[in-house]
Amino acid sequence: MITVSNVSKHFGDFTALDDVSLEVPDGSLTALLGPSGSGKSTLLRIIGGLEWADAGSVVIHGDDVTNVPPQKRGIGFVFQHYAAFKHMTVRDNVGFGLKIRKTPKDKIDARVDELLNIVGLGGFAKRYPSQLSGGQRQRMALARALAVEPKVLLLDEPFGALDAKVRTELREWLRRLHDEVHVTTLLVTHDQEEALSIADNIAVMDNAHIEQVGGPRELYDRPANPFVMGFLGPV
Ligand code: ADP
Ligand code: MG
Repeated sequence: MITVSNVSKHFGDFTALDDVSLEVPDGSLTALLGPSGSGKSTLLRIIGGLEWADAGSVVIHGDDVTNVPPQKRGIGFVFQHYAAFKHMTVRDNVGFGLKIRKTPKDKIDARVDELLNIVGLGGFAKRYPSQLSGGQRQRMALARALAVEPKVLLLDEPFGALDAKVRTELREWLRRLHDEVHVTTLLVTHDQEEALSIADNIAVMDNAHIEQVGGPRELYDRPANPFVMGFLGPV
């Protein structure tokens, strides 16, 4: 479980997070849903250690990581614009984190093959990122983030740059991947449909606050915030 307690973050006079608390259940696929500027990425970055909170704490699987650097938090990241190593094959991109941890080559190969198969890139190991479509590249990013067996997977609008059809496909890939790997996952999105279709738990954010947390059904039926969720309510 990820437990965020009373986290605040200011940029000058501006309050990006105002005393935010959140629990991401173990093994869940939780979506952090809200409009642009509501503070989602800032919260994700604080959980990941890419940004420091002004106040509050972050606990991951029982360890207080509030003052722990990102590389020691056991986190896999996927962002909207994935920075692949262009000169490396798909195999080497996915295996990179294991290689720098000095994992034996046969173990790296086995793990990379397993993940590439799960994300449907089994035949693509020898390609270079430029030879992949945008959707395939994000699937490679998912495989790479999971290669080191992170405790937590953090995704910030991972499919935002892609067209609608590919986005829908990637949702299904992420759901399938999550069902196989069960890693505790927090997905930042402004897309209600995306959150409702793949998350088992949704935290709705607006204006530096978390306004509502619940399952998709509950949020669909009883949206607390008419602006964020309202038009998705029952007809
Ligand atoms: P979201 O991801 O929900 O779109 P963000 O967390 O990126 O929102 O940003 C929340 C607010 O904080 C926005 O108004 C944004 O402009 C502001 N903000 C984020 N990062 C910075 C920064 N480094 N400096 C100043 N303002 C920032
Ligand atoms: Mg954002």
